[in-house]
Amino acid sequence: MDSEAKKTLIDTQALGILKRFFGYDSFRPQQLDIVRTVCSGLDCVVLMPTGGGKSICYQVPALLLPGVAIVVSPLIALMEDQVQALIANGIPAAALHSNQSDAQNAEIYEALRRGQLKLLYISPERLMLELERWPASMKVSLFAVDEAHCISQWGHDFRPEYTQLARIKTLFPRVPVIALTATADRLTRDDISRQLALQQPRVFISSFDRPNISLTVKQNPGKAQKLKQICSIIDRYPDDSGIVYCLSRKAAEQMAADLQQRGYRVAVYHAGLSASERSSAQHRFIHGDVQVVCATIAFGMGIDKSNIRYVIHNNLPRNIEGYYQEIGRAGRDGLPAEAVMFYSFQDIITLQSFIDESGQKTLNQEKLTRMREYAESSVCRRRVLLSYFSEESTTDCGNCDVCRQPPLRFDGTVVAQKALSAIIRTGQTVAANMLIDILRGSARSELFARGFDKIKTYAAGRDLSFAEWRAYLSQMLQLGLIEIAYDENSHLKVTPHGMRVVRGLEPVTLARYVVEKPRTERPAAAKPATDATVNADLLHRLKALRANVAKIHGLAPYMVFSDKTLREIAKEQPTSRWEFEQIYGIGEYKAEKYWEQFTRAVRLWNSSLKNKD
Ligand code: ADP
Ligand code: ZN
Repeated sequence: MDSEAKKTLIDTQALGILKRFFGYDSFRPQQLDIVRTVCSGLDCVVLMPTGGGKSICYQVPALLLPGVAIVVSPLIALMEDQVQALIANGIPAAALHSNQSDAQNAEIYEALRRGQLKLLYISPERLMLELERWPASMKVSLFAVDEAHCISQWGHDFRPEYTQLARIKTLFPRVPVIALTATADRLTRDDISRQLALQQPRVFISSFDRPNISLTVKQNPGKAQKLKQICSIIDRYPDDSGIVYCLSRKAAEQMAADLQQRGYRVAVYHAGLSASERSSAQHRFIHGDVQVVCATIAFGMGIDKSNIRYVIHNNLPRNIEGYYQEIGRAGRDGLPAEAVMFYSFQDIITLQSFIDESGQKTLNQEKLTRMREYAESSVCRRRVLLSYFSEESTTDCGNCDVCRQPPLRFDGTVVAQKALSAIIRTGQTVAANMLIDILRGSARSELFARGFDKIKTYAAGRDLSFAEWRAYLSQMLQLGLIEIAYDENSHLKVTPHGMRVVRGLEPVTLARYVVEKPRTERPAAAKPATDATVNADLLHRLKALRANVAKIHGLAPYMVFSDKTLREIAKEQPTSRWEFEQIYGIGEYKAEKYWEQFTRAVRLWNSSLKNKD
């Protein structure tokens, strides 16, 4: 067969598999190209944002090629999640990891020996053991290395056990390897190809844009206000769920306690909990028993909960890669979702201390700087993000806070001068909070003890609130007028540029700090209810049915059908199996399993309407 004919054959088969097993009508950009590459036996590196659809890229070839696909994955929870979802689609899959009994293991080996599995998920350290003892007769179709950035020291999630994976190519030189990650910086990318010893891999880079996620950064308005604002976000989605990321375990626990006290259903997740506590939190979240998970960065990798509606960052994150991956967990179903970050002066100080203790100081410093540039941006935030991932964007997104409400600028020269001169008059020996207290004329005893009430700028800035001062100081920092001396108790120092401003040689423009008004309605873009063709009552009934069905089958609701699929059912109102099978996200297996119950629900609802007339 010539290569063109072979390509057409692969295309036809791949599309058939996509429809039959996953219920999708078409591939997303790049997916088909990747499937072709793997099916032709070539290596590739796939960079796609979280939620972009990486799994399909190896799952479809796994079904198309003879043999079993080996999928390397770093987390047990992630493997189990994927295996369950595959089985729910009628695809024979299993996971080999340390939390299994001998009996379970034996069953999997038996299935492997008989060639009954299409996909086997496995941890990297376990794979190293298995590789040496697998029977030569076992036919491996492909190796997929998920979360491949874990192989690189440059990445933000280095795992030493990944570095052994080059053995794959030595032992199976003819089997294609597909490496997948949502982390895109060039260093990590090159590292992946090198460390896996890939042979002239094709590199696929998808757009990292996730236009359905709205982006907002808020200056930290103080603890009580912040909590209020977080609650108002949660309140906007009473039937849905989200994540609050915190910098430390303690902070995550505190946040959970605060929210719980206010009546929210909450779980905590961080690396300090036992494995069973963590998997229980994850389980409750996936099954919709909790609204919010308060977590450190340890949470969320590989959770394919497609209806996470908001991701809140309680603080400035450490770097853009991590941040982007975290917010990417929202809105995987393509429906509107929100990413809200709170950012304060204190965050920079805290993060700086992490960096000082870390091994790779220069690199981490650089990454933090880029993160700050994003948080402090006065241009479209999405453009800042995309440019970080080397993607060109020529228009403003219209779905970030800067686009929605461009900052009002004013001549801030006098404001800046007051702050700068106060810093100088204290001999540059105070940190931000003390400086603001001085400017606002606070009666704090430490301030009197150090004689700061005597300096000329004492109370010179009492016309501005604490929050305003904090916002303006942070802008001054961004403008390079001041610096934080991290090695001197975070005291503020005036830069040469700042000195020119004090002397009146240069003006300063600042962005007006706006006090947040509490908002209870969903943002305009995040209002699925505006979809007039979806009947809310029917959707509600379908959700209840889905919850029931999920309980009976021991699955998470979204593994039965995603929210998007449910909305499609409510919209199309299928009443026959044939109509049911045409719906987005319903493959043959699920159609067979669920069509009767769901079409009956639609019919019942229709006739109840007629009875009302
Ligand atoms: P990633 O691993 O890249 O984070 P997933 O593979 O979990 O993303 O895919 C995210 C979501 O998109 C899943 O719900 C998946 O079923 C869906 N998806 C993937 N490919 C397609 C497609 N071609 N058409 C429709 N939905 C898709
Ligand atoms: Zn924008």
